[in-house]
Amino acid sequence: KNIVLLGGGAREHAMAWKLTQDGATVHVLPGNGGIPNSHPEISATDFPAVQSFCEAHGVKLIVVGPEAPLAAGVVDYFAGSDIRVFGPSRAGAVLESSKVWSKDFMRRHGVATAQSWQYRSDQLDEARAKATELDGQVVVKYDGLAAGKGVYVCSSLAEAEQALTDLQAEHTGWFSFLLEEKLTGPEISIIGITDGNRIRLLAPSQDHKQLLAGDKGPNTGGMGAYCPVPFADDNVLAAIRTDIVDPTLLGLQNEQFDFNGFLYFGVMLSPQGPKLLEYNVRLGDPEAEVLLPALESSLLELIEATLDGNLAQTTVWQRPGYYVGVVLASGGYPAAKFPTGFPITGLDKLPDNIHAFHGATRQQDGELVTSGGRVMVLVGHGQELEEAVAQVYTEVEKVKFKDAYIRTDIGQRPTPVLEG
Ligand code: ATP
Repeated sequence: KNIVLLGGGAREHAMAWKLTQDGATVHVLPGNGGIPNSHPEISATDFPAVQSFCEAHGVKLIVVGPEAPLAAGVVDYFAGSDIRVFGPSRAGAVLESSKVWSKDFMRRHGVATAQSWQYRSDQLDEARAKATELDGQVVVKYDGLAAGKGVYVCSSLAEAEQALTDLQAEHTGWFSFLLEEKLTGPEISIIGITDGNRIRLLAPSQDHKQLLAGDKGPNTGGMGAYCPVPFADDNVLAAIRTDIVDPTLLGLQNEQFDFNGFLYFGVMLSPQGPKLLEYNVRLGDPEAEVLLPALESSLLELIEATLDGNLAQTTVWQRPGYYVGVVLASGGYPAAKFPTGFPITGLDKLPDNIHAFHGATRQQDGELVTSGGRVMVLVGHGQELEEAVAQVYTEVEKVKFKDAYIRTDIGQRPTPVLEG
């Protein structure tokens, strides 16, 4: 079975690995320096080139990793052809790409979420007044894709005013934004596979977005993740199901969305119950790197069942124990510029029971070198979370490149006491 997988990060390496385990031959466009069958010459958003590749290799199924090809309409491009694409259409991708739109969707369908107020760029004074009323305990969100730079979490009126000033300075022309009540509580990622009618949830996972230990420093694409989350017990998951997941699915049905693919719920466990922060229309990264090794069931079968309308006949089986993924990043990341091109060594010293999923790596004159911020993710496993943590941190020492940086506390957050 020939498959094309679009993307080229550690998430796609994990997806390619899993689909290969499931018996597929996976061609990755563009891939990277460590994913087998990578094709660096083909961009994931060059759909005519992707189509020619599929035709030349007899590929009838495309699986999409990142958001960009979805937002660019890869599903729409191949609609009506005999090549099936696993993922939502451009219309479905709006759940992620517009915060204003997705907030309205949540409201229309009674999905538990933070209170919010919508403004246009010429209404900054109204937004300032609302922020004052809320004592600066607000979150300001730019409407649109802002490469992780569109969200300002504020703890004082001065911070809120600064956020509004920055928002105005960063974006020229007309735009919309949201002001949200600031919630508190631990965050978890709930990711499922859906055909728009049913959903099969994978294990709850937790990301570590900030650069530094203790959740300090600038936001990154994610410095590590683990699953499952011990405090996301059956009660918590049941509340997420009734307050967030089920109303979302009913909403997709009511609005006749033709949605298939991964659906990601970024959930905050607030003292008032679980609240949805955002949808993503793809697997999370680095969540995928722990969720896919933890998945016992065939991903290929789940994907095919979704496309065939047979998701009801599937069950998701989870491997026992915990999985912890630690990102090896380039020194200087997430600044706009930092040096890359450093040789990576030590991968041959890793034992077989550790996954090394490549992100920003490339082959250069027969040598593996760094090519970006999040270079690779090492994933350890253990019956207990502490064992998985100990294993991955022992092994991560063996992989070396100049100025490598890892966060030292992945999977080691203190256990929250949940109220309610
Ligand atoms: P991501 O990179 O996770 O896709 P994003 O830029 O799409 O992020 P959100 O997920 O909406 O934006 O928000 C980013 C982060 O800001 C959240 O993970 C959360 O920590 C914080 N946040 C968002 N909304 C709220 C809220 N209402 N109250 C408190 N914190 C919030």
